[in-house]
Amino acid sequence: MSDFNWCHGPSCHKSHTVDRVRGVKGSKVLRTRKVKLNNWNRDSFYSKFCSNSCYNEFANKYVNEITAIAPRTECLETPINVSKETINDTYWGRSVRTNIEVDETRQS
Ligand SMILES: [Zn+2]
Repeated sequence: MSDFNWCHGPSCHKSHTVDRVRGVKGSKVLRTRKVKLNNWNRDSFYSKFCSNSCYNEFANKYVNEITAIAPRTECLETPINVSKETINDTYWGRSVRTNIEVDETRQS
């Protein structure tokens, strides 16, 4: 197994940076960056993209294909309990805090 991936950014090879330049004079190219695999990026999208810019470009270009993997056809809901609490602070004065807590008894 390889210890790197080629960046999946659709235009990675078009960015004008010196680290992408390869080849000899007269036949130089801008090449897609390699992304080295390590413990930090192994199980994340950072193992497939050299930068957030390349990731964003890929996600924007393929958003329909990506969301087709796990379509969201209806909303999701998290059961909660909401309570209000009056706070009397000597500096900030009186205010009402809204507490939102997940209702574990109604979790599915
Ligand atoms: Zn890239």
